[in-house]
Amino acid sequence: MIWNPAKECMSRDEMHALQSKRLQKLVNYVYHNTPFYRNKMQAMDISPEDIKSIDDIVKLPFTTKQDLRDNYPYGLQAAPSSEIVRVHASSGTTGNPTIVGYTRKDLAVWSEVMARALTSFGVTRDDTFSVSYGYGLFTGGLGAHYGVENLGATVIPTSTGNTEKHIRLIRDLKISGIACTPSYALYLAETLEKMGISKDDINLRIGAFGAEPWTENMRKEIEQRLGLKGYNLYGLSEIVGPGVSYECSEQNGSHVNEDHYYPEIIDPDTLEQLPYGTTGELVFTTLTKEGMPLLRYRTKDLCTLYDEECACGRKSVRMGRIVGRSDDMLIIRGINVFPSQVESVILEMNEFEPQYLLVVERKGNLDTLQVQVEVRKDFFSDDIGRMLAMKKRLADKLKSVLSIAADIKLMEPNSIARSEGKSKRVIDNRMLK
Ligand code: ADP
Ligand code: ZN
Repeated sequence: MIWNPAKECMSRDEMHALQSKRLQKLVNYVYHNTPFYRNKMQAMDISPEDIKSIDDIVKLPFTTKQDLRDNYPYGLQAAPSSEIVRVHASSGTTGNPTIVGYTRKDLAVWSEVMARALTSFGVTRDDTFSVSYGYGLFTGGLGAHYGVENLGATVIPTSTGNTEKHIRLIRDLKISGIACTPSYALYLAETLEKMGISKDDINLRIGAFGAEPWTENMRKEIEQRLGLKGYNLYGLSEIVGPGVSYECSEQNGSHVNEDHYYPEIIDPDTLEQLPYGTTGELVFTTLTKEGMPLLRYRTKDLCTLYDEECACGRKSVRMGRIVGRSDDMLIIRGINVFPSQVESVILEMNEFEPQYLLVVERKGNLDTLQVQVEVRKDFFSDDIGRMLAMKKRLADKLKSVLSIAADIKLMEPNSIARSEGKSKRVIDNRMLK
């Protein structure tokens, strides 16, 4: 089933024409409503009249997460605040969170693209669907929620937490679909097994998994343990939230909703646009957004775009799996963590050398973060009470900065390997590739 064949199966030529029209309108709109873009365009000596087709997009300036932070909270908002009906914020990174305002039309587009995704996964009005992304400032919960309602299936807003109760609901309400992170799906499977409930006792058949990188092996494991079919759902709050792209029954990449979010791949060093089929940094332009439209937003996600036709009938461009990031951001249990955040906490405390190592593991299907840090000579002692208190002080500070708990391992002076070139601060043992 295809939710919106007119858009999802539009010919490449028609799509090109539609994108061109929408880009022209967008550039005019931001030029007149966002001083940030007007200034950037004037500095580059371009005006809205220079944009005649979607191919002219290469003339436009990029936008980065730093731009959003520097213009916190509402600097890139184009619509007047009276038009904004909802605000989300992206999860904890260093500095200011990213604030994204949506107009009524933006929300309607979001539930449209989510309905396309869910239909592509095989969800119908007859399904009972549990949304187990977090509800709140995070875009996952409410984004998926309105998509399920728009499609007409029954939504169960379970959010995260209280997994045993959730599993009883899955069984008793005959929940047939679920949206959550792949790591939460594995945790669900584990809890199911602990509770002595077999996958044959439940009716889950479709999983919409995203918000963090995952692999084919994880897909197989989740599918096998929960007895469902898992589909990839991609998105980011700056662009809209979940629903930017979605897999189809062919599972050979995720179709991009490119009538709303125009994708490009660039070389992260030269910033040149790269042809389809080449791996590089994914960039999106929000062709129809009103609240906080963005030109050429650099996602930092590395992947490849494909424009070969897909057997499912959709003609939209597909993106391959995210194979990495062009920055050092880690995603641990869906939360963004930068090594620099850990570093700044350590540097604030006299007890430690600026020598540390982040070790990320997947234990029992849950991601864990260990922070190894060197204690300064003057502070190192065999007084266990003192050492434990030091450990707790660091753990508490890290928890408040990162929003996730880290296991702290205090190291003796000079025990962490020094490097001669670029220091290695992260060991990620999750084997995601
Ligand atoms: P949040 O909505 O958590 O605040 P962000 O917008 O910070 O979310 O997170 C978006 C990032 O999450 C993406 O840029 C990408 O790195 C990652 N992500 C989201 N969905 C997927 C997916 N299906 N596969 C891989 N990575 C994903
Ligand atoms: Zn397809």
